Amino acid sequence: MRIGFGVDVHRLEKNRPLFIGGVKIPSEKGAVGHSDADVLIHAICDALLGAANLGDIGFHFSDQDPKFKGIDSKILLRNVMVLVKDKGYSVGNIDATVVLENPKVNPHVPMIKEVLSEILEVNLDEVSIKATTHEKVDSFGNQEAIKSYCVCLLSRNA
Ligand code: MG
Repeated sequence: MRIGFGVDVHRLEKNRPLFIGGVKIPSEKGAVGHSDADVLIHAICDALLGAANLGDIGFHFSDQDPKFKGIDSKILLRNVMVLVKDKGYSVGNIDATVVLENPKVNPHVPMIKEVLSEILEVNLDEVSIKATTHEKVDSFGNQEAIKSYCVCLLSRNA
């Protein structure tokens, strides 16, 4: 087994869509980024890449490259899965936390788990998505940014 860890942050601005774990969530503010700025998927990508010792998301999908502008992050995660599988690994499980003051993420977790389990090729029970606020403290608590953490286990295919 190999462990991996990923973290990602994006700024929040009004009048932008908010994607979390491949699901569009109704929100006054959305995340700013070169891609669709899906903070949860980016943290998962970095955890998977880290576990396989394949570098990081910025190495594989540069934010300077116009071909990734506005890209659906589910496509990035599918590409990461190809890299991970090519190196001989499959996903054991992931455990992620999204830090967002508002709106509540929890009502969307069942749909997020459906989307991610399909891409990660695991059962729903292997995808843990948790949500927390930042208790109104600093830029996250002031709804200026969103953050996600993820750990994962990969197992080497026989
Ligand atoms: Mg990101």
